[in-house]
Amino acid sequence: MTVDDSSAKLSLAFAQQPNDVSLTRYSGRFAPSPTGPLHFGSLITAVASYCDARAQDGRWVVRIEDTDIPRISPGSEEHILRSIDAFQFEPDAEIIFQKDRLDIYEQVIEQLHAQDLVYACQCTRKMLGSNHIYQGTCRELKLPLIDQAIRIKIDDQTICFNDRLQGQHCSNLLHDLGDFVLKRRDGIINYQLAVVVDDFLQGMTHVVRGADLLDNTERQIWLGQKLNYPRLEYMHLPLAMNDQGQKLSKQNMAQALDLKQAPQLLQQALQALHQAPVDLDMPHIMLKQAIAQWSVDQIPHCMELPQIYQ
Ligand code: GLU
Repeated sequence: MTVDDSSAKLSLAFAQQPNDVSLTRYSGRFAPSPTGPLHFGSLITAVASYCDARAQDGRWVVRIEDTDIPRISPGSEEHILRSIDAFQFEPDAEIIFQKDRLDIYEQVIEQLHAQDLVYACQCTRKMLGSNHIYQGTCRELKLPLIDQAIRIKIDDQTICFNDRLQGQHCSNLLHDLGDFVLKRRDGIINYQLAVVVDDFLQGMTHVVRGADLLDNTERQIWLGQKLNYPRLEYMHLPLAMNDQGQKLSKQNMAQALDLKQAPQLLQQALQALHQAPVDLDMPHIMLKQAIAQWSVDQIPHCMELPQIYQ
């Protein structure tokens, strides 16, 4: 694709922003990565983001975050899509797939390059060792941007935000993180870049997601600032833990949601979120009742799981 095609695509993406964004008080999303089928923890995030948006008369969309191709697990994308149907969530826009938008992210990297904010990095994982704070080794080398990882130049700024559940969080990205990767050497666009660009292009105002992503928030806010995007509101949900104190995740083999049990699972997810009980019914009717009763104040600091997940 030529730069011209790619600019046209970016302008188109901007043009596709919902035209009522400025009038929308709330726009939220559920953005799973298809690295495994949806599990009970993902259901909690989907339900909370949906109810929170709808309770404030907001829009809600689904985005599949599938840029990290080596981590995609076969069949999981399909399970996610079937889950959205089975739980009768009603997204307000067509579901988007990040793997179809790679030229948009490339275009944003070019935009940052024009601002002299990115550089190529040839450091291997071995060279970086156990030090997770990148010291800027390649910053001044002016390597060509081809076939190398691309990092963004962090400045000495402390970013703070007030999470709706987790309170105030701050980080000085220069000291806590260093220049971070936007695109890997293998060409994979990093989640941090794709999430910031798409939250903006999809007109998001609110993010509701698991607390495992809390530490990513300051760098996403910072990147959004560099791109002149408006700041979002964040709510990080406590993580669902099993009885060994491990978070429910695809990595520790959390069970895939059994979609035949959708109403029961919905009831359990609302219970885990400490919401008022809803009657077993068709999922969309249960969701309607949950939205009418939705109360962020009830969400517990520690998520208890139903017995079957223990
Ligand atoms: N794709 C991420 C995940 O599945 C969530 C990203 C987000 O909500 O910002 O963990």
